[in-house]
Amino acid sequence: MEIISGIHELRGRIVNCYLIVNNDEIILIDTGLPGNSSKITKYLENTLKRSPQDINTIVITHNHFDHVGSLSKIKEITGAKVAIHPADADFIRGKGNHVGGAFANAMIKLLKIIYQSKPVEPEILLSEGDLIGDYQVIHTPGHSPGSICLYNPKNKAIFVGDNLQYTKGKLQSPGEKLILEPAKYEESIKRLLDYDIEVILTGHTAPVTSDARHLLEDFVNRL
Ligand SMILES: [Zn+2]
Ligand SMILES: [Zn+2]
Repeated sequence: MEIISGIHELRGRIVNCYLIVNNDEIILIDTGLPGNSSKITKYLENTLKRSPQDINTIVITHNHFDHVGSLSKIKEITGAKVAIHPADADFIRGKGNHVGGAFANAMIKLLKIIYQSKPVEPEILLSEGDLIGDYQVIHTPGHSPGSICLYNPKNKAIFVGDNLQYTKGKLQSPGEKLILEPAKYEESIKRLLDYDIEVILTGHTAPVTSDARHLLEDFVNRL
């Protein structure tokens, strides 16, 4: 569904991904778990009446498996370029382990085999201040080393990946266990107050579409 003009949310049972839709290009933010690709292509074809090949960039907010599980499949279908922060790039290249311990890694290996996920070499390595369409990259390490937010000063919308969740009318962290580097996380979140934010699009929960500034201030005060 369209959250605000040009931003469509594909809410999954577990994880969300988003489409930024312009006349000439479509940007996909995150890809969801393995097996999610047909949901994205169907939404493009049936709801937006657009072709999956109209996606020209796939931006990954961070390398956790629930956000990159369908990456190789969607890249294959769309031919889109993949953009990720270099600190999170190795996992999608098929190198290194996923955070989360031996059990999580075994599960991921199995899912990769079942869904035939392949390593992906990103074409675009993102750094602070880079632009993807109208959106600027804000490097927000903490949840993962290469976590990023994408902020658009025109519509004041920000994609925060797993940095923030919106539950019970408040912004929350992804949970203590899911913050790899707490000091960096806190610093990253505080930096978001430098931006004029009205809409917050999260990786796992409903979006914040009003009062975002106040909710963010309240969250920072609770850190
Ligand atoms: Zn995550
Ligand atoms: Zn996640």
